[in-house]
This record gives sequence, structure tokens and C-alpha cells, in this order.
Amino acid sequence: MTEAAIRDRAFVAAYRRLLESGELRRRADAAYERLADCDLCARYCRVDRRKGIEGAVCHTAMRAVVASHGPHHGEEDPLRGHAGSGTIFFSWCNLRCVFCQNWDISQRGAGHEVEPAAIADRMLELQRLGCHNINFVTPSHVVAQIVAAVHDAAQRGLTVPLVYNTSGYDSAEALALLDGIVDIYMPDMKYGDSALARKYSKVRGYVEVNRAAVKEMHRQVGDLVLDARHRWSAFWRPKSRGTRIST
Ligand code: SF4
Repeated sequence: MTEAAIRDRAFVAAYRRLLESGELRRRADAAYERLADCDLCARYCRVDRRKGIEGAVCHTAMRAVVASHGPHHGEEDPLRGHAGSGTIFFSWCNLRCVFCQNWDISQRGAGHEVEPAAIADRMLELQRLGCHNINFVTPSHVVAQIVAAVHDAAQRGLTVPLVYNTSGYDSAEALALLDGIVDIYMPDMKYGDSALARKYSKVRGYVEVNRAAVKEMHRQVGDLVLDARHRWSAFWRPKSRGTRIST
């Protein structure tokens, strides 16, 4: 993507191409099938989420729980631009971090259960408000619901890029579903020691899983590419895609 193309707003979000080919619909269907024997994050609970939450570490069944949504002006500069990053905060989490600053959301499930259509409504609302992107926060355990919502929103005119803002404990199966849908990955790399991850986030093999996940994200989208302008103009609505490691 050249600077001129970005300036001319010629950028096309990745998922638009999959919508046109019909692949986005197929991905949504395939993602929901995986809920029957869930491997949609690296916990690999292998439970049937169509029947409820029993055995699901993420406490999430068929419907995602959304805590809040809105333009986020505290996000990294390239994502927030002048109008904010269009964040959708999902409740529950596949990690159990003792230091979580959003405990009521991640561990208590504060928020409301919603259908994918309601997530799509929020995405379109954020686009109408001028947000430069849709930023899915804590998305790993709701990949199926997100892909379905993206399909719905894309059919109804969504064009802004998608940011996958994850704690980085994502399964290969989930990332395969997201290939060609996500424009910008923003993964945490929380630990360099899996024993500490076990102690403080109650998770096994974090380092190995996390490094493999970030490699796959980078394979899909490459380095984050910014244009040469300063931070307030670097990311107008059409943006380049890439990987941005969050801390
Ligand atoms: S998304 Fe992860 S934590 Fe939730 S049920 Fe599936 S494998 Fe378990």
C-alpha cells in the first residue's frame, strides 16, 4: 500500500474481499461449528458451548457478552487518530490474570449478552461516528461471534479496518479462521516464562503458544506499516494492515 493510495482512501479492508467471494459466510459457519468441541482458544476446553458454559473456562456459551463500546481516545496513537479507535470490549476472558485492571469485566462478566447482529450494530455505529477502525478487545474466546458479526456488518456497509486486540493466547484454529479478515493484530506478549504465566494468569504453556500465535499473525499481515505523516494524520480511516505488539 503506497502513501498515495492511503491518501486517496483506496485502502480496502481485508474482510471486504472475503465478503465478495462468499468466503466470509463460510468462515462464520465454520467458526460456529467449532463451538461444538471448542478449540477457539489455546485452552482447548473441548466443550460443547451450544449447550451452555459448563467446562468453558471463558464462561461464554453461544452469545458473546459485551461490556461497552465507543470511540477510544486512549489507544495507541496510530489507532486512535483524531476520531478514536472504535473499541468493543468483550466480557470474560480466556486468561485469569491476578493483575487484571478490568476484573469486573474479565472475571465477573459485567455486560450484556448479545447476538452477532447486535455486535454488528455497534460496529456500524462506531463507523458512523468516524472511528478509524473497529477494535475488538479481549476477542479470543468470541472469535465465532465476531466473524459472524463482521459478515453481517460487512453486508450492511462496514468498510473500516479491523483490529484484533488480544492477550495472545490464541489457538492456531482460531487464527486460521481470522486469516484474511483481520487487518491489524495487536497481541500482548505478557510473559517470557511459562511458569510465571501459570502462577499469575493460570494458564499453561503461555510462552510457546504466544510465540506461535504472534508468528502466525505476522505471517498473515506482515509488519505494521505507517505512512510518513505525523501521528494525527498517519492513520486516516483507510489504513495499512500489520502487527503491533502490545505490552
Ligand atoms: S474459547 Fe477457550 S476458554 Fe472458551 S471454551 Fe473455548 S477453548 Fe475454552
